[in-house]
Amino acid sequence: MQVIKHASPNFNERRLPLSMLVLHYTGMETGEAAIERLADSDAGVSAHYVVEETGRIIQMVAEDKRAWHAGKGVWRGCEDVNSASIGIEIVNGGHDFGLPDYPEAQIVAVLALSRAILSRHPIAACDVIGHSDLAPDRKQDPGEKFPWKRLAENGVGLWPDPAPAGFAPSAPGDDGEAVEALRQSLFEIGYGVARTGAYDDALKSVVLAFQRRFRPDLLSGNADEETCVLIEGLRRKVTSVTSKR
Ligand SMILES: [Zn+2]
Repeated sequence: MQVIKHASPNFNERRLPLSMLVLHYTGMETGEAAIERLADSDAGVSAHYVVEETGRIIQMVAEDKRAWHAGKGVWRGCEDVNSASIGIEIVNGGHDFGLPDYPEAQIVAVLALSRAILSRHPIAACDVIGHSDLAPDRKQDPGEKFPWKRLAENGVGLWPDPAPAGFAPSAPGDDGEAVEALRQSLFEIGYGVARTGAYDDALKSVVLAFQRRFRPDLLSGNADEETCVLIEGLRRKVTSVTSKR
């Protein structure tokens, strides 16, 4: 795997052990513009890697340094995701530029790079996430066209087998047992969701983030039957991974 270097000044020292891999899209018109911004000290953002549409891989920050890709958010209780993660920016215009398909060569490169990273560091499958998973209220990347299932089938991240949820479907505005159980399950998966409270906008954004990844053909924000069954399926897989730690 060939990796080209293009250094960014936007990094500092990690304050936590490395335990997560975060995938993004660049969300800009071109890859060149994105790389320029990720190397601009005034922009104050960066990533460890950028993967272009052609599959070309560019390293901007060393893996042992803290790149600035995640921003405000939380995953598995960690609020300094930058300190605990490696970030890969995948060149794609994103929702602002028509959400283009990810080309085959680019996905092949993301897979190879991710597998190499996972072989070098103790990152659990349940902690391979999208930017939208750690910041569901403000981020949508890498978006519903990103082939998470294919990645999981190739050793990068988890994919749920449907399992009986044991809690009823719910939707924004609902309250009570079903919503509490939904919150608890999403929390166990790793989402930064409060354990109690009605089905508010914050919970809806988490359900949307889950759907964007695991049920991308219907992004409703409602915890419908199919969504609940997938949430329970993923929760079981996550629990089996985390209990081995
Ligand atoms: Zn992002």
